[in-house]
Amino acid sequence: MSAPHPLRPAAFDPQAVREDFPILARRVGDRPLAYLDNAATSQKPRVVIDAVADYYRLHNANVHRAAHLLSDEATAAFEEARAQVARFLRSPSVEQVIWTRGTTEAINLVAASWGGAHLRPGDRILATEMEHHSNIVPWQLICARTGAELVPVPVTERGEVDLAAYERLLDERVKLVAVTQVSNALGTVNPVPEMARLAKGVGALVLVDGAQGAAHFPVDVAALGCDFYAFSGHKVYGPTGIGVLWGKRELLEAMPPYQGGGEMIETVSFAGSTWNRLPYKFEAGTPHIAGAVGLAAALRYLEGLDREAVVAHEADLLAYTRERAAELPALRPVGEPRQAAGIFSFLLGDAHPADVGTVLDQLGVAVRAGHHCAQPLMARFGIPGTVRASFALYNTREEVDRLFAALAKACDLLL
Ligand code: PMP
Repeated sequence: MSAPHPLRPAAFDPQAVREDFPILARRVGDRPLAYLDNAATSQKPRVVIDAVADYYRLHNANVHRAAHLLSDEATAAFEEARAQVARFLRSPSVEQVIWTRGTTEAINLVAASWGGAHLRPGDRILATEMEHHSNIVPWQLICARTGAELVPVPVTERGEVDLAAYERLLDERVKLVAVTQVSNALGTVNPVPEMARLAKGVGALVLVDGAQGAAHFPVDVAALGCDFYAFSGHKVYGPTGIGVLWGKRELLEAMPPYQGGGEMIETVSFAGSTWNRLPYKFEAGTPHIAGAVGLAAALRYLEGLDREAVVAHEADLLAYTRERAAELPALRPVGEPRQAAGIFSFLLGDAHPADVGTVLDQLGVAVRAGHHCAQPLMARFGIPGTVRASFALYNTREEVDRLFAALAKACDLLL
């Protein structure tokens, strides 16, 4: 065995990191909070809350324009945040990092800008049946405008992409494949590098929805083999309202602006306008500066942890949850993906998921119940929705035990 790297961070201790997240000390009624709704949004460590507060308290100004100290400081913090994201994604350059409101806006940007410029009648976009509505509806909108067609890639009973069906669908009509790195409804980790390699075989671009992936795994856009990668700050321990589109430089250079306004222009006249260079071409209007600063703090926090140990801890929580689930006869897992991250979706007998969610909430256990913005996937399984427990690095086996104690109670009350 090799000696530990001298710069290796201290071993990961979930109990210790809980201290970094003030909200975890909250109570729900007379019970401690067990927050198992991290796929919807994660909680924020103190360093993120402080970074946002300090930004407003000490540095607030508009970026890139004014000739004064505060604006210089705000601009430096904003651009340093972009550089932090570039490092987080292993991006070859900072200019390929475009701020958006989140994953949803990032995908809408690509669909409207790239899709609007390139799609023609007869062209096809493939999207898996497990995509979030954010990776379906923007494609439907642009297909309606261009005459292209959105075609679903089937999902198997296990809740995995049917790779054989995917290969059969890939032909020269396919211009882009839209795929989620991790399913927000089932936790499935998709074989993105393999899917990207196959897409390249027919000359199709690949857009990866990283909304769930970025929270659980270190990201390397080159290793994923994608052309576009989108993620949201609020799911990686950062603020809401900020997210990122990463794209290959030559594609971004060739794409028309998404929105018009200040910042995205080089010159404006009534005869016509010219566009700013990357990344500003896609950043019309005053950006969410505090959000960018907060997101950078979140990424620094994550990178300060032993990521391998965090991945192992989250895998342990999921394995333990599955073990406990097997002991509860009324519980039916939805999907059984062989590669999964952070999410366990299930039904309890014939109880409505919303009723299960309400009982759990009364016992201080926060989960999500419903279709998880993945109605086509729910239709695929013939169900209206599921109960979903989703984990973050600060969750513990004790919280999983509390989930199962609450589920036993839900069985008594509802079945
Ligand atoms: N894709 C996936 C897989 C998601 O889980 C989510 C958030 N639930 C989104 C896209 C949309 O993210 P946002 O609402 O932050 O834009």
